[in-house]
Amino acid sequence: MTHDQLHQRLRAALGETAVLTDPDDVAPYTSDWTGAFTGTASAVVRPADTEGVAAAVRLCAEAGVGIVPQGGNTGLVGGGVPDGSGEQVVLSLGRMRRIRTVDPIADTITVEAGVPLQAVQEAATASDRLFPLSLGSEGSCTIGGTIATNAGGTAVLRYGMMRDLVLGLEVVLPDGRVWDGLRPLRKDNTGYDLKQLFIGSEGTLGIVTAAVLRLMPPTPRRATAFLALDSVDAATALLPVLRQHGGGQLTTYELLGRQALDLVLTHQPGSRDPFGEPHAWYALVEIAGSTDDVEARLEAALGEAVEADLVGDAVIAGGPAQRSALWRLREDISEAQKSEGVSIKHDVTLPIDDLARFVTEMRPRLEELLPGVRPVTYGHVGDGNLHYNLSAPVGDDAALRAAAADLTRAVYETVTALGGSISAEHGLGALKRAAAARYKSDVEVDLMRMVKQALDPTGLMNPGKVLPTAG
Ligand SMILES: Cc1cc2nc3c(=O)[nH]c(=O)nc-3n(C[C@H](O)[C@H](O)[C@H](O)COP(=O)(O)OP(=O)(O)OC[C@H]3O[C@@H](n4cnc5c(N)ncnc54)[C@H](O)[C@@H]3O)c2cc1C
Repeated sequence: MTHDQLHQRLRAALGETAVLTDPDDVAPYTSDWTGAFTGTASAVVRPADTEGVAAAVRLCAEAGVGIVPQGGNTGLVGGGVPDGSGEQVVLSLGRMRRIRTVDPIADTITVEAGVPLQAVQEAATASDRLFPLSLGSEGSCTIGGTIATNAGGTAVLRYGMMRDLVLGLEVVLPDGRVWDGLRPLRKDNTGYDLKQLFIGSEGTLGIVTAAVLRLMPPTPRRATAFLALDSVDAATALLPVLRQHGGGQLTTYELLGRQALDLVLTHQPGSRDPFGEPHAWYALVEIAGSTDDVEARLEAALGEAVEADLVGDAVIAGGPAQRSALWRLREDISEAQKSEGVSIKHDVTLPIDDLARFVTEMRPRLEELLPGVRPVTYGHVGDGNLHYNLSAPVGDDAALRAAAADLTRAVYETVTALGGSISAEHGLGALKRAAAARYKSDVEVDLMRMVKQALDPTGLMNPGKVLPTAG
């Protein structure tokens, strides 16, 4: 079947407007958020419902054409965009935006894959519940994308990653069949937990079309502080103090290096340094709950921290406007780094105890490889997850590009030697699939290949992503 014939059949099945082939219409779907990955697509299909997704998958399978599922296209590893062959079809879930039900007894929400994360948070709030997953991209990223990448974010410390929040899934399989696993059950030991295979599989095993998600009690009282710290060691030593005083309500504990804050102050209009003088490190802390004691808990934790010399200075948010300004200092880092120019992203996890050692050992090693390179360090310190991004020496993007492979190898070798992971929450996509083969064991890579072979034997689901090339 030619691509023209496939387009005709897709149009006949899904309707004229659901299939885009004009280059101007297709272009927005073929570049990723970072700008590092740009491909070309045979077509973009935009089904309105699960049956439409299944029909599109069946037709692509008959034509032997690869399918790239796409949600909000905010992924950071090039997983949601096609390659440069022009042979692949992008399947966008953007029209599947229905919130199907909010169930106050089961304490769940059932939504379609294309619903933006923020819309799910808002629907939960409207029912006096909380959907706790929270990311800087929440206005644009979709539930399908957050499931496919097993997204993390700023509340993992308390609520876990997306995997921990999914109870049931509906998935269109690579042969076009629909697996209806949309069950709200909290207990279901009937063999393999199939939904877990699809969570974090980055569109390589099937297309998530809907999900049942857990809801949580709302946390209308929030106590938020921005702290100045001398070292990463102080940040890790502070974690048990915050946990102890937080009483199970410690929700957020984020770390920022001075370079990260500097980027935000430079590029984000209206941002302001909360302190009179610069410090080496900063942390954003939030304790959240339904009772008035959250502030007292935060103050008690900070009192002990100051006493133990762990905190140099602190600002506690006096109200919603100040809270939001402090949050922006953390959440605007990705945008600010993008405005600064080329950077190399490393999203890594380490045993929390080794975060300081990693940061101390990396700096001279990288400086030796590329004098003037600027590590911009921030992340979810409570999860041992650092975004260790490297900006170019001032005015020398070309030098960063030339040294990129060596710099990344140095970072990944150190992470691996310390027992960490080269992808904490962004996934492998196209960016890290080769590296994953180097740093995962042969047994692990083999198991991944067996799963892929079993579910997608013809390799049409998101080709060229996640799995390393054979050999
Ligand atoms: C400013 C900013 C901040 C961010 N902060 C965080 C953060 O704190 N934590 C974090 O984890 N991530 C973060 N991200 C990364 C990104 O937002 C997440 O990976 C998000 O889960 C991607 O969702 P999406 O809908 O945009 O997916 P896309 O980018 O469209 O796709 C991501 C991957 O999922 C696949 N996919 C998408 N939808 C489906 C589906 N329905 N079925 C099967 N496969 C599918 C795609 O093929 C691709 O491989 C951030 C990104 C930005 C730009």
